[in-house]
Amino acid sequence: MKQVGVLALQGAFREHIQMLELCGARGFEVRKLQELKRCEAMIIPGGESTTIGRLLVEFELLDPICNLAREGMPILGTCAGMVLLAENIIGSDQPRLGLMRVSVLRNAFGRQVDSFEARLDIPVLGPEPFPGVFIRAPYLEEVQPPAEALATFMGKVVMARQGRLLSAAFHPELTSDLRVHRYFLETVAGADV
Ligand code: GLN
Repeated sequence: MKQVGVLALQGAFREHIQMLELCGARGFEVRKLQELKRCEAMIIPGGESTTIGRLLVEFELLDPICNLAREGMPILGTCAGMVLLAENIIGSDQPRLGLMRVSVLRNAFGRQVDSFEARLDIPVLGPEPFPGVFIRAPYLEEVQPPAEALATFMGKVVMARQGRLLSAAFHPELTSDLRVHRYFLETVAGADV
C-alpha cells in the first residue's frame, strides 16, 4: 500500500487523506522532516499559497521536498498546491517549490466568481466529465515542455502534468469522484522519468 504524505501546514489536507484512504493508499499528515522521509508520494493541498510557502521555509521543508521530487517522488498539487509547484508565479516573488515548467496566475477567475463548480472534460480520466470545484482558483497562463496541459476550462489550462508531478487548479478532494487521486496514484506516480 502506497504511503502518501499530505502537507499539513495549512489548508484542506484532511479531505485529501480521506480520498487517499478511499483509493486504498495510506494517507498521513506531513509537518516535519521525519514525516517527509516516510513519503512514497506527496500531496500539496489547497489553502493560501503565500502562507503555505512561508511555512515551508520556516519548517525547513522547502528544499527537502524539492530534492525528493528531483529524485522522483511523485507530487500532486491542488489549487494553492498548483501555485506552489509552478516555476513562475505571475507578479509574485513568494516562496515556491518551482518544480513545473509553467506560469501560474493566482485568483485568476476574478473576484466576482470567488468559487464555482464546472463539469470538466479531462480526457486522461475517461469520457465522463469531472466535477471541478474552483475556489479562488489559479490557472496556468503558460505550459512548457516537459510539462503538458491535461485539461482546459474557458480556454485556460486547469490541469497539467510533468513526469511524476500533477497539478490541478480545482479541488478534487471536495468531491466524491476519486479519479484524479487514482490517476495520480496509478499512472503519474508510476511513470518513468
Ligand atoms: N488563491 C489561493 C492562492 O493563491 C489558492 C486558493 C485555494 O487553494 N483554494 O493561494
